[in-house]
Amino acid sequence: MTERSAPSVPSWQRREAAFTFCPRDGTKLVPTRIDGRDRPACPVCGFADFFHVQIGANTIVERGGQVLLVRLNYGPRDGHWSLPGGLVEADETLEQAAIRETKEETNFAVSLDGLLATWTRRGLPLLVVIYRAHIVSGDLRVAPDEASEGRFFPREELPPLDELAWPSTAHGLDAWRAYEPPRP
Ligand SMILES: [Zn+2]
Repeated sequence: MTERSAPSVPSWQRREAAFTFCPRDGTKLVPTRIDGRDRPACPVCGFADFFHVQIGANTIVERGGQVLLVRLNYGPRDGHWSLPGGLVEADETLEQAAIRETKEETNFAVSLDGLLATWTRRGLPLLVVIYRAHIVSGDLRVAPDEASEGRFFPREELPPLDELAWPSTAHGLDAWRAYEPPRP
């Protein structure tokens, strides 16, 4: 018996989450030199697979100098604290997604006060955008299928790093702590 070694994967396909087939018409993509790199590209419609990411939209909801976190109750981050937020749908803007997710997860209707921070990590197909926000209406009521509780934390009493759900949560909280409103 001969042992078959795993077929080697060409470097242009190795990148995480690269497409093998055209997402528009299903044609098998072929390496094509574009902008100095071999990229999977569709010989039929011209689609080229650049780095494509999912986008997460989060909010820093501040009230009385405190920031709102929700405690997740599912998945690998069960019991960890997260900013309200979630993935952006194709038929909404980043801002709409941030507002929608915050409402779904906390029952607060919020208004955004501008972009606070973005988070990416090389090789990971995710971009997280974090907006500052304030409450317009509603009482805190977390979505029971997503979180066990929600709580406002003062700057000096944030949960420790190992109790935060995601690197982007820590990044957003760091940016919040460092944020100084523009002076009039
Ligand atoms: Zn195509």
